[in-house]
Amino acid sequence: MDIQSVFGSMVFSDSVMKERLPREIYDEFQNSIKQGKSLELPVANIIAREMKDWAIEKGATHYTHWFQPMTGMTAEKHDSFITVSANGVIMDFSGKELIKGEPDASSFPSGGLRATFEARGYTSWDPTSYAFIKDGTLCIPTAFCSYSGEALDKKTPLLRSMEAIGNEVKRLMKAIGDECDSVQTTIGAEQEYFLVDRAAFKKRRDLIFTGRTLFGAMPPKGQELEDHYFGAIRPRVSLYMKALDEELWKLGVFAKTEHNEVAPSQHELAPIFTTANVAVDHNQLTMEMMKKVAAKFDLACLLHEKPFAGVNGSGKHENWSVGINDKVNLFKPGDNPRKNYRYLLSICAVISAVDEYQELLRLTCASAGNDHRLGANEAPPAIISMFIGDELCEIFDSICQGSEYINRDRAAMETGVHVLPQFKRDSTDRNRTSPFAYTGNKFEFRMPGSSFSVADSTTVLNTIVADVLMRFSDELENASDIPLAIEKLIAREYTAHKRIVFNGNNYAPEWLEEAKKRGLLNLPSVSDAIPYLISEKSIKLFKRHKIFTENELRSRCEIYLENYCKVVNIEALTMISMTHQEIIPAIEKYTAQICNAGKVKKELSGSISTKFEENYANRLSDNMLTISERLEILEKCVAKIKEIQNTLDCARYYKSDVIPAMDSLREICDEQETLVSREAWPFPSYGEILFSF
Ligand code: ADP
Ligand code: MG
Repeated sequence: MDIQSVFGSMVFSDSVMKERLPREIYDEFQNSIKQGKSLELPVANIIAREMKDWAIEKGATHYTHWFQPMTGMTAEKHDSFITVSANGVIMDFSGKELIKGEPDASSFPSGGLRATFEARGYTSWDPTSYAFIKDGTLCIPTAFCSYSGEALDKKTPLLRSMEAIGNEVKRLMKAIGDECDSVQTTIGAEQEYFLVDRAAFKKRRDLIFTGRTLFGAMPPKGQELEDHYFGAIRPRVSLYMKALDEELWKLGVFAKTEHNEVAPSQHELAPIFTTANVAVDHNQLTMEMMKKVAAKFDLACLLHEKPFAGVNGSGKHENWSVGINDKVNLFKPGDNPRKNYRYLLSICAVISAVDEYQELLRLTCASAGNDHRLGANEAPPAIISMFIGDELCEIFDSICQGSEYINRDRAAMETGVHVLPQFKRDSTDRNRTSPFAYTGNKFEFRMPGSSFSVADSTTVLNTIVADVLMRFSDELENASDIPLAIEKLIAREYTAHKRIVFNGNNYAPEWLEEAKKRGLLNLPSVSDAIPYLISEKSIKLFKRHKIFTENELRSRCEIYLENYCKVVNIEALTMISMTHQEIIPAIEKYTAQICNAGKVKKELSGSISTKFEENYANRLSDNMLTISERLEILEKCVAKIKEIQNTLDCARYYKSDVIPAMDSLREICDEQETLVSREAWPFPSYGEILFSF
């Protein structure tokens, strides 16, 4: 494969624009992006024409405004380029069509922001993310908002937050005398996923309807041997990964690393990082392509946070950093971090922000799926804390104490084998259990779930850090002795917020106690976390930086809670129906088989013992009674929801009543699974799915 001709071949990229657009139009386009100004219509007309010609040359016949509604997925509504003119039918595409769309799209969740009968919805072009061709359609990345300009999507607030942090970084740099023309927020989203055989997938209605298994006894072998992690990639999976890479490369997605993850059948894809809004777009495309390409290899890709109980779940590690002038990473320590004030202020701002707004970061990761993952022993707990490593702790301590700091030497690595190449060790080790870890030049937020859009967490990160930077600038702009003022500010901020710093093992049970003593929040579930979105503190914060209005926040709060309720409801209904229609008939049939065997024995001769059949049939029947009782409890629980009016109360009820009822039904069904023959069980077992190919 010629990577040069494949990579970005389906993207209307900077180089394509440079080549195709008249020089002055290209310059105008670039300027408008740099200065954050919107484009004049005549310029947009020319760009639209070139975009269309390019797309048609690549075989496209349609275009779509591609957007990211509150479902967390992407949406598109295709229009063809066909227009009727005096000379018949021509392929046309105007600047107006490029800039603005009106997809109606009134059925997407709006949390009460618009009623289906009245309001228009608009999509508007995001010129900072390149257009691309997918399935013969020119896709134009857009933001989606209501008639009155309220955000109905995940991209609008993200773009607003990038602007907010950009402004605050510029202000702070100016206050400390550093040059700063432009600010970049960058993201690299590592994506975990499961691949299972498609035929097995299709036999499980729980996987089809909910993306996770609602029943399933543990197989004799799980992940305890750790033989899958980084193991040799199976041939079918390897072919899949290659095909996936190629599809992603065509779309300009920098898919880079692939490996097996901890759980059997679990894998990970990591891209090379890029500008936040582009990275969010790319991650959405990655998830879409993962599913699409899987079908070609008779596989199904599971993006659920917890497809299998008792087996590691999937997350998305969001690597985040902030750069200036397209070249300097603010989180890179340089040779002398103790004197690198720009670096120390930036890191300190993140520490303060994460501590001050723990609840907001936590709630961007709250969903029905992620509730199964956070706080289980394989994923970060539901408590936000930060790992910054020993070196940074020592530096901050020395600032607080006003003492000298001697730079850590980067020791040469001692492996004891001389033939191995020599390299220097990093100044700090890593911590794999921290929900929010500093990794040398970026922060890695490990709480988001595998199916999430990283738009929400990035929006919050950008906003909370912008807020702290604003406070820093207010103080430093008035200072006469800048270095002294910086040392004072950092000492005060670090002392006030260092409770959020925890370099130890986040999976240890003692941490829960310790975190409580420190006064850190522990928000185990959606209904605990989401309401913080509309706290007075949060409304003020988002208003201050023009990220969300109060209305927008209230609507989002409603959408998240409603989504949680809907998801758990679908799961409960799926369980009920699988129990009635598959599990009960299967067990009855098997029990009858056992009884028949006893009957046949008796008929043959009265002296053959049928004790076994009687005992076994008894055991199955006793369990069956328990199944039917627990099923009834679940059905009653679900029926009661109608009586609850308020969405938050509903979410709480699902958590306190419905989920425990589901767990208890599952427990007894899973026990039955281990008692019947393999052929008798109505759908593939965990063993068959996880170790099938
Ligand atoms: P790690 O060993 O910490 O997993 P990698 O170098 O493998 O680090 O990077 C993990 C992810 O972080 C990749 O997606 C990578 O592109 C991304 N990344 C690296 N540097 C940055 C940065 N400055 N900003 C955002 N993401 C980054
Ligand atoms: Mg990682």
